[in-house]
Amino acid sequence: MPTQISPDTQATSTKTTPAQAVPGGAPRVRFAPSPTGTLHLGGARTAIYNWAFARKEGGAFILRIDDTDSERSTAENTAQILHSLKWLGLDWDEGPEAGGASGPYFQTQRSAGYATALELMKATGAAYPCFCSASELASKREAARDGGGMVGYDRACRGIGPDAATERIAAGEPHVWRLKVPLDRKPVVVDDAVRGKTVFATEAIDDFVLVRNDGSPTYNFATVVDDADMRITHVIRGDDHLTNTPKQILVFEALGYPVPQFAHLSMIWGPDGKKLSKRHGATSVEAYADAGYLPEALRNYLALLGWSLDGETTIISADMLTSNFSLSRISKNPAIFDAEKLEWMNGAYIRGMAPEALAERMLPWLEEAGFADGADLEARPEWYAHLAELIAERTKRLDEVAGKVAFLFEDPAIEEPDRSKVLAKPGSLESLKAARQALAACEWDATAIEEALRRIPEAVDIKPKVAFQAVRVAITGSAVSPPLFESLELLGRERALGRICAAEPLAEVP
Ligand code: GLU
Repeated sequence: MPTQISPDTQATSTKTTPAQAVPGGAPRVRFAPSPTGTLHLGGARTAIYNWAFARKEGGAFILRIDDTDSERSTAENTAQILHSLKWLGLDWDEGPEAGGASGPYFQTQRSAGYATALELMKATGAAYPCFCSASELASKREAARDGGGMVGYDRACRGIGPDAATERIAAGEPHVWRLKVPLDRKPVVVDDAVRGKTVFATEAIDDFVLVRNDGSPTYNFATVVDDADMRITHVIRGDDHLTNTPKQILVFEALGYPVPQFAHLSMIWGPDGKKLSKRHGATSVEAYADAGYLPEALRNYLALLGWSLDGETTIISADMLTSNFSLSRISKNPAIFDAEKLEWMNGAYIRGMAPEALAERMLPWLEEAGFADGADLEARPEWYAHLAELIAERTKRLDEVAGKVAFLFEDPAIEEPDRSKVLAKPGSLESLKAARQALAACEWDATAIEEALRRIPEAVDIKPKVAFQAVRVAITGSAVSPPLFESLELLGRERALGRICAAEPLAEVP
């Protein structure tokens, strides 16, 4: 059901008294996603900027769910958005789950406020009813287009006198409520913190619909009423909303509310210079979480898509971000999404993490593969920390981990072409036998294992590469693996010897 506003209903909200923009007070910002989909990268960046700004300025970060599109909004999407925001490490001071004095934080629950605001605008003459039917509007639009004029509404119903309008409404004639753009007002200047000033002549601003015939508020109306009720001081959002801003300023003014400071963020582009979309690969935050990205890496990467600390620093912690963020360092230029750079950054975070912490992060992937569980990690923390150290240097995403270390959890099958390329080489059987003897006798740590194995090539007169690759394939099942000596240490002597034994019959068979 759309949000219903019955224009004649007495509103119960008490929050429509014109707010003062918290004089001298701390900023209040909001992120207002529509739950018509999950959180995507652009939305996540907007949320990060709002959050970082609020934290830097000691203000409040408010989460509001713009769920007026009842056909496409779902509770699952809302839950997913909240989950993704939390995953990114963002917290909000007011909003779903957090509560707050300006609630409720779902637009579908705020209809009383919209009704009150409409009543106020009706009373001051800032809103007027329009009885034009959809087909009439369509033919007017067509005529205007053909004549090369303004395509917006021709403001025809402005001319209907108040008594005639009241009569037609009382007779049940369908109507919407439009903004009466004050045509005698000087041009509307959007003084944007990122883009500077844009001037809009009032004649070019449409008498847009505030409230539809079914009583539901439009985006431009609901947003202003809520931003005003929530005493929002700064609106930081994507520049796809820039053309809405002059309309919204007029509503703020009609309601007698202070106009917030706007900051419009340039779109994120794909490498081809087109707006980032599914064509460029995954765009939802959830997909990046599933692909083994660390939330701190994605947050860092998105923070730098259009903002910079000093133009150089690339690794920026949450603390650095929230103590340095400023609107003045947001770039006007579109940011280009570079998947490779994001992956590089993720790898940098993986490498920079303490092994114990990385082991914890790897666990869900190992669990999913059926290799490990929390109890095992608790029982053998050092073993898992070693494992983390072993793979940290070579891993860019956590979803690679299970495949790389599977051989430590289950016996590998030695597949072609690894068998014929490595084990079939002359000297590999001898190498395996010598390795088995050496490993049966040495101390069991990576250094001692290395010393023992390094003696083999000379002892059996075989090239080191042949000898080590034979042992590698026997132990890991593959010619490409994490470092051999450390892998052997983690595998344990008994299993290592067993695998070499099992591989011997496969060696030197053409
Ligand atoms: N719900 C709107 C959107 O997701 C909010 C825009 C705004 O921040 O005003 O685009």
